[in-house]
Amino acid sequence: KAKEHGRNTYQFYTAEMNDAALRKRELENSLHQALREQEFTLHYQPIWNIHTGALEAVEALIRWQHPVHGLISPSDFIPVAEEVGLISKIGAWVMEEACWFGASLHQYCDTPPKISVNVSSRQIQRLDVAELAESVLQMTGMSGERLIVEITESILIADEQKTHQQLERLRDMGIDIAIDDFGTGYSSLSYLKKYPISRLKIDRSFVSDLAQDAEDRALVNGIISLASSLSLKVIAEGVETREQVELIREMGCHSIQGFYFDQPLEGSALVALLEKQPVPDVNPVN
Ligand code: C2E
Ligand code: MG
Ligand code: MG
Ligand code: MG
Repeated sequence: KAKEHGRNTYQFYTAEMNDAALRKRELENSLHQALREQEFTLHYQPIWNIHTGALEAVEALIRWQHPVHGLISPSDFIPVAEEVGLISKIGAWVMEEACWFGASLHQYCDTPPKISVNVSSRQIQRLDVAELAESVLQMTGMSGERLIVEITESILIADEQKTHQQLERLRDMGIDIAIDDFGTGYSSLSYLKKYPISRLKIDRSFVSDLAQDAEDRALVNGIISLASSLSLKVIAEGVETREQVELIREMGCHSIQGFYFDQPLEGSALVALLEKQPVPDVNPVN
């Protein structure tokens, strides 16, 4: 009886492992297809200057319009793309698409927003992102001063010569480097002075309970004063309420991004917003 049970258990796990492996193979195949068939698209989420109300930048966020499963979020396929080695191809597509879009915005206003592009750690390890940026800027006519590259702390902790060189080259092209999800990664901050970083994006997890949680307020205050003494810009991510806007402004954050102002928008909706020359309600209510 026990033996039988054991065998069943064994078979159960085997079946499940095959299933997971199979699903991954399927996903890998459909990611290849997505690249071929142009099933990816970028949405753009506004980042507002909290003091002037100017549209400072937009963050490019990838979406996958799957023919069967519909819209798939990046959290569901970027990790797989990294694992199966497709992140470089997808990342190259993102960079190019975002820069074509960014360059096109001159048609609609005099000082178009910067374009902020997420670059995964694996992408920096596997591919020369500086070389990619250089050729894409040249091809699209986009200026490096209008490009921001968002990276996460993990790549800086690894502290590889190759990363350092790539970031220096990006900086030399006028590209700003932002640390995404700042505060969630590592406790060592020495990399902030070692690398050419110019922006910190405070992770949403510190912003969401800001009004209720004194510890979160202390952390955000700490990040802002650290940033200010290093002359870094601070962007608050994931701002959803009026109360958070007020707190973040009082604390001295520079820019703000979140559902309170906008969801990530399709390119056409972002253009419509530019044409309206919007000034969102970032000023204190009097
Ligand atoms: P991220 O770079 O930190 O992007 C911010 C995420 O927070 C986006 O999710 C955005 O839609 C969401 N968000 C913005 N404001 C709010 C808010 O007020 N409340 C809440 N709850 N969420 C908000 P999204 O688009 O699903 O992207 C998830 C992650 O996937 C990104 O996090 C980024 O790490 C990754 N990702 C997205 N696009 C790309 C890409 O083109 N390349 C790479 N390598 N990664 C990407
Ligand atoms: Mg980001
Ligand atoms: Mg983030
Ligand atoms: Mg994130």
